Amino acid sequence: MRCPYCKNEMEYGFVQSNQEIIYTNSEKNVPMVWARKGDVRLTPGFWGPATCSAWHCPGCRKVIIEYDPDQLKV
Ligand SMILES: [Zn+2]
Repeated sequence: MRCPYCKNEMEYGFVQSNQEIIYTNSEKNVPMVWARKGDVRLTPGFWGPATCSAWHCPGCRKVIIEYDPDQLKV
């Protein structure tokens, strides 16, 4: 994948955590975060592996995460 900012080739890898990874438009300031309605689940649920594939551009310091909207939307 080419970086949408600098057009250089991006490195394929993984974003990993020891908890579920979500995208949300409202920051949750609690120790345990889980997906709520309207959030996008980037990993397969609370008990699944907290790993999702991603693309990294070290020059632009950007990480792009793709997700399957049918499988992971809450
Ligand atoms: Zn770039």
